[in-house]
Amino acid sequence: MLKKLFKSFRKPIRRGNHAHSSPEVLGRSQHPIERGEISRYAISVVERLQQAGYQAYLVGGCVRDLLLDIEPKDFDVATSATPEQVRAEFRNARVIGRRFKLVHVHFGREIIETATFRANHPQGDEEENSNLASRNESGRILRDNVYGTLEDDAQRRDFTINALYYDPSSERILDYANGVHDIRNHLIRLIGDPTQRYQEDPVRMLRAVRFAAKLDFDIEKHSAAPIYKLAPLLREIPAARLFDEVLKLFLAGYAVYTYDLLVDYGLFGQLFPASAEALKYNPEYTDQLIRNALHNTDERIAQGKPVTPAFLLAALLWPALPARVLKLQERGMPPIPAMQEAAHDLIHEQCQRIAVPKRFTMPIREIWDMQERLPRRSGKRADLLLENPRFRAGYDFLLLRESAGEQTHGLGEWWTRYQDVSDSERRSMIRDLSSKDDSAGAPRKRKRSPKRKSATGSNSAGE
Ligand code: ATP
Ligand code: MG
Repeated sequence: MLKKLFKSFRKPIRRGNHAHSSPEVLGRSQHPIERGEISRYAISVVERLQQAGYQAYLVGGCVRDLLLDIEPKDFDVATSATPEQVRAEFRNARVIGRRFKLVHVHFGREIIETATFRANHPQGDEEENSNLASRNESGRILRDNVYGTLEDDAQRRDFTINALYYDPSSERILDYANGVHDIRNHLIRLIGDPTQRYQEDPVRMLRAVRFAAKLDFDIEKHSAAPIYKLAPLLREIPAARLFDEVLKLFLAGYAVYTYDLLVDYGLFGQLFPASAEALKYNPEYTDQLIRNALHNTDERIAQGKPVTPAFLLAALLWPALPARVLKLQERGMPPIPAMQEAAHDLIHEQCQRIAVPKRFTMPIREIWDMQERLPRRSGKRADLLLENPRFRAGYDFLLLRESAGEQTHGLGEWWTRYQDVSDSERRSMIRDLSSKDDSAGAPRKRKRSPKRKSATGSNSAGE
């Protein structure tokens, strides 16, 4: 409703995608943002800084989202006060950050991130500012703690829609880069020259895709054009930063659409090279497995259920495993050690690109190990597996594999039933398993092929 109201409001459109030195100003009656929609802590940070004589605004994602009638994830403040000056104003403020310093003002569990206005430093300027800002040979900004004016701050932001400033005191919006125009037209547009802005910070390519998926916006054509060619620049980005970005990409509730865009723009292969390879040599299964895993994630998020990055990463990488296991087996390694080594190597390689922390790599290995163990059900094995804390994840993963068409001879259905039935029925299910020619109790072929339950409800098809 608010959105409609906002859309019906018209104002002259200025051309160009550079930030202007004087902003378009939208007064109280010209936009739909209500003070009541804003965190009272964010308002109090802004007002406190203003009372102390500094400029301060709400900025970025929160203003953009409020204009689109989306509940903001968090509220960011931009101010003319330096981090030290901000800290001096608040009792519960902490200066954080390496790439650039920020202040976190804590109010119970809510944090208001407060950043000092910063300037873009044009290429060639390094000499004077070398202790504050620097770039590498490809133009990437390594540090940027050069403080600037409000106008500078608008210019250095990534997209026009992220360069809107809201002053809760006057309830006015300052628009330096035609962000309001792009919000109305559902466009993600970089401020300034796209190639240069991606070179400065290649992560902006991922951010373009993330916002396009989240907001259901198009990437404006000049901002979209260089992405495919520049995608390899992501290799220069520290693996820890990429891990954070990957979580934001896949845990925002629009993972399937995000994945499509990442593949289309040639970004997916930069993040998950082994999975991109698997997409080439086993396209249908790989694409279906990844898609189903992401779809489940989106559904869980929509239902407010927790999601674990380990499960998702296990799924993204799984299709890259078989070829590696096979290679090791061809060199004479037995299946289980081959699987172990392939899993170890794959995760190690992946961590060179995206620094997946140990607290996630361990469960990835456990989910994969579980895939080896789920077929072995004889004697007490099945009951022991049921007690394993990773059983649920392992079982869900098995259903995911089946949903992508992997042939497991009804193993998922067997486990679904086993969890449901009484003790005596369990004993008979175990007795039914043929252990004649397979001492490990691996699954035998079933005569009937019962309709399988799949993780996504889709029918499984043979690989
Ligand atoms: P959300 O929080 O919903 O993901 P956001 O726009 O608030 O979206 P943040 O990552 O929180 O995104 O960044 C806050 C603001 O900082 C952005 O709106 C943008 O103005 C600026 N910003 C963030 N990352 C970059 C970047 N890599 N280059 C330029 N500006 C950036
Ligand atoms: Mg934000």
